[in-house]
Amino acid sequence: MARITYPTPIVEMQGDEMTRILWDWIKEILIEPHVELNCAYFDLGLPERDKTDDGVSLAAAKAIERYGVGVKCATITPNAQRVEEYKLKKMWKSPNGTIRAYLDGTVFREPIVCEGIAPYIPTWTKPITIARHAFGDVYKNCEMRIAGGSDAFLHVTNDDGSDACESIARFEGGGVLQGQYNTDASIESFARSCFTYALDRKRDLWFAAKDTISKIYDGTFRNIFEKLYESEYKEKFEKAGIRYEYSLIDDSVARVIRSDGGMIWALKNYDGDVMSDMVATAFGSLAMMTSVLVSPSGAYEYEAAHGTVTRHYYRYRNGEITSTNPVATVFAWTGALRKRGEKDSVSALCDFADKTENAVRRAIADGFITGDLKALYRKENVTPTVLDSRAFLKKVSEYQ
Ligand code: NAP
Ligand code: MG
Repeated sequence: MARITYPTPIVEMQGDEMTRILWDWIKEILIEPHVELNCAYFDLGLPERDKTDDGVSLAAAKAIERYGVGVKCATITPNAQRVEEYKLKKMWKSPNGTIRAYLDGTVFREPIVCEGIAPYIPTWTKPITIARHAFGDVYKNCEMRIAGGSDAFLHVTNDDGSDACESIARFEGGGVLQGQYNTDASIESFARSCFTYALDRKRDLWFAAKDTISKIYDGTFRNIFEKLYESEYKEKFEKAGIRYEYSLIDDSVARVIRSDGGMIWALKNYDGDVMSDMVATAFGSLAMMTSVLVSPSGAYEYEAAHGTVTRHYYRYRNGEITSTNPVATVFAWTGALRKRGEKDSVSALCDFADKTENAVRRAIADGFITGDLKALYRKENVTPTVLDSRAFLKKVSEYQ
């Protein structure tokens, strides 16, 4: 059969360690027999980042903006130990951070729901996607310990020479103080990415904050979302048959737990940090979470939510055969191929992505899994078979 072709390149970003190995196997076993890949290739593996003084990370980010679709393998974020291990010139920044900063995007994390891997909340039959605002608040804070016998103020000076000052508290005894901020521009691009993604996935969007307590700060988030929705997205949402709603964070948590899932849950930076770990754990496994960065201009970058699985890689390097789960990386590829197909109107590419994702789901439903899923697997009359990574991919290819 002729392989599927498409006109515009996908930005392919190779990575590190075990996921670098899985990456080549996924292409060889599941993709290249069916698709003639047209990729703008960037090697984001640590040796190449070091060689190019990390120029390759920024070049990849620019290519994603240009072509609109990228797929990224997990990469090492260097720390002191990695500087030693790889004899690096410098402790380079995380490529994800570089790409996110350049594209100004929002990260959406979504569990891959499969028969046999049951979420801890039995009513959750549909995935819950977390959209976490990745800028500001407590992550860009300024904090102090305050000695007793002090007065604390919030003081702002404006460029025109005027200023504003509010009293925060009188400290009779010792205490703590924290300042945090966000910007209208960042909140607006977060909101835009959320509305764009909800329309793209045809799923309801829930945004939650605490504007009853934080009337100006969280109130600004709520207002920016509402204003944009009313002026630019309401009609499109109604046409798509989806809803946007705002609720208080505590109410939202309770309603998410009682729901059957399926919503995109937009959260401020801290809430998103906490809730994404809760949702990921409740759905089963980090190895079954995908992640997509959506820029306000509509560029998409797909990847797995997990890292380079270093422990497995060291075993692999010693000649051991590992059972590392490739599913989230497979879904990163299918996500990118589907999006390319949509953008370029190549329906065969979208069908191929659907078919491959279904093949993964059916293989797992029939009990073919990797080692990490063994403890989670629950299906009547099925005793799961644990396969190594390559054997798992070969098994999936039989279902394609
Ligand atoms: P990790 O690679 O996600 O792995 C942590 C542990 O989770 C593994 O040792 C393994 O547990 C389990 N695991 C994760 N993914 C798995 C998979 N696909 N199949 C089977 N088990 C899986 O996190 P890490 O060890 O903290 O970080 C390793 C490197 O990845 C670091 O250098 C970090 O900088 C990088 N990282 C990159 C990204 C990214 O590029 N987006 C994200 C996070 C981390 P067992 O060993 O118990 O089997
Ligand atoms: Mg966290």
